[in-house]
Amino acid sequence: MPANLPNPADRPNLLGLTPPELAEALDGHFQARGQPRYRGGQVREWLSAGDARGFGEMTNLPLRERDALGERFRLEEPGVDTVSESADGTVKHLWALRGGEVVESVLIPAGDRLTLCISSQAGCALRCRFCATGWSGFGRQLSTAEIVGQYRASARWAREHGRGRVTNVVFMGMGEPLANRKAVFPALAILNAGYGLGARRITVSTVGVIPGIEALARRPEQFRLALSLHAPVSELRAELIPLEKRYPLEQLMAALEAFNRKGGRRITFEYTMIRGVNDDLQLLPRLAELAVRVQAFVNLIPFNPIPYVAWKPSLAGRLRAFRDGLERAGVPAAVREPRGRDIDAACGQLRASRRPDLTRRPVINEPGRRFGSIESP
Ligand code: SF4
Repeated sequence: MPANLPNPADRPNLLGLTPPELAEALDGHFQARGQPRYRGGQVREWLSAGDARGFGEMTNLPLRERDALGERFRLEEPGVDTVSESADGTVKHLWALRGGEVVESVLIPAGDRLTLCISSQAGCALRCRFCATGWSGFGRQLSTAEIVGQYRASARWAREHGRGRVTNVVFMGMGEPLANRKAVFPALAILNAGYGLGARRITVSTVGVIPGIEALARRPEQFRLALSLHAPVSELRAELIPLEKRYPLEQLMAALEAFNRKGGRRITFEYTMIRGVNDDLQLLPRLAELAVRVQAFVNLIPFNPIPYVAWKPSLAGRLRAFRDGLERAGVPAAVREPRGRDIDAACGQLRASRRPDLTRRPVINEPGRRFGSIESP
């Protein structure tokens, strides 16, 4: 390797550059090599079309220019560790990252939509009680290139396997995206402006990182926000989501109201229903009140059992009662079945199964308890 070339690991990964950064890097590179300006556009097209796995496949560039790109930059996606296909059409990829970490992404077909759920962290530090990723602990932050790489590789897999085009992206995989804003925000810009995915087709899901919600509200693009609410009162929420103690529900609602005032950015509440834990009908009026305040759509999701707690999903009748009660209060709501149960699809479970050191936590034999003492609003 010539002395003036960067080590392979130090070469910038083009997948992690925002459109202006990419244009600057490529224009500078080709200009220094005496190449015409359109060369940068050719590379950008190969990147956004998503077909090229490496510079060698950019066949409309002269061979020596493909070699030169490889000496200056990287074009590196996460490697495939495992692909699992569910009977319901859900497809889960487990991606192998540099340094031995693994993360998941999931393709979820529904009607004419194909939603990709991607990860923003390897593991998660926030330790929500109902979440396999939380139980598996925090590994590290993902880079922008690793986030965009999941999209690019998953979208290509979908095209090559007759599943069509990815229409929506949700940051609901492993990790709390607003706790990795340094990598996630550029990734949002790249997916939107670089890969042409409309901002309203990209949803950032959070358990309530208020500074992150405020930062997202300041962005000009109308990305959507999903709040993992899971309980409409602070005391109960803190039992499920430790972050509630740092960012309590009332402050969180104020941040959501400010987000909502920006207009054009729909908020969704995610409410995982756990039998005997957060499905008491007394909670319903309070849930409806919160949703009305920020015009939220409520997704009611039966708890997907994980190995670490003995909780069970709410019964179907209770899920329907919540949905009907919300609709009577003027709140749009839907019951969502968890997808891909037969492929162990609860977020974080594949990582835990791949890392035996993460699976030795004791099962908490907690059959659930009623929160009947919580006052009705
Ligand atoms: S629900 Fe989200 S924030 Fe909570 S532990 Fe799981 S990945 Fe982390």
